[in-house]
Amino acid sequence: MPKPRTPKVHTLASLTALCADEGDCLIWPGVGPQRKKVTRPTIHHAGVRQSVRRLFAALRGDPRALAEQAGTADPGHWAATCGDPHCMAEAHTVRRSPGQHLQAARTRANTGASNQVRIAKIARTQRGRVGKLTDAQIAAILASPLGIQKEAKVHGVSPALIARMRRRNPALIAGTVWAGLGSRAGA
Ligand SMILES: [Zn+2]
Repeated sequence: MPKPRTPKVHTLASLTALCADEGDCLIWPGVGPQRKKVTRPTIHHAGVRQSVRRLFAALRGDPRALAEQAGTADPGHWAATCGDPHCMAEAHTVRRSPGQHLQAARTRANTGASNQVRIAKIARTQRGRVGKLTDAQIAAILASPLGIQKEAKVHGVSPALIARMRRRNPALIAGTVWAGLGSRAGA
């Protein structure tokens, strides 16, 4: 006799039991690579696939989550405030309206970790490109008999920068460097 298929119904206890305590966080288990990929975990509950975080909120008695489940309120975005998309801790759960969600995404884009990485990368590139040379150092580099590699080491800049400077029109660079010294520069 085949087993009757009854939809799985979770309780707060059964759902919590699936999670792991990690400090203040309650971490929903992802399976394999999903742990990294899935940013909004879902689960079958009472025959409906739904957001795990919203289900947690509903089982905790959050009236907004219950209204969404019942279809009497527009769905919101249930997000984790601690930065781990798998965190289901009540203290780390926030419901955002679509407008708030958009605003939060914009703020994240401007201040978030990925952007910090991007900013650091740009800063590194800029340092390599621009260097930190005074006019006197530039003049010395252009007049120096040292090779590109040695000159770069002396000044702590990239060899590419030295090469670029030496490829430039010498008259132009001399003009830039010596412009401050007065009319002799143009002579
Ligand atoms: Zn958390």
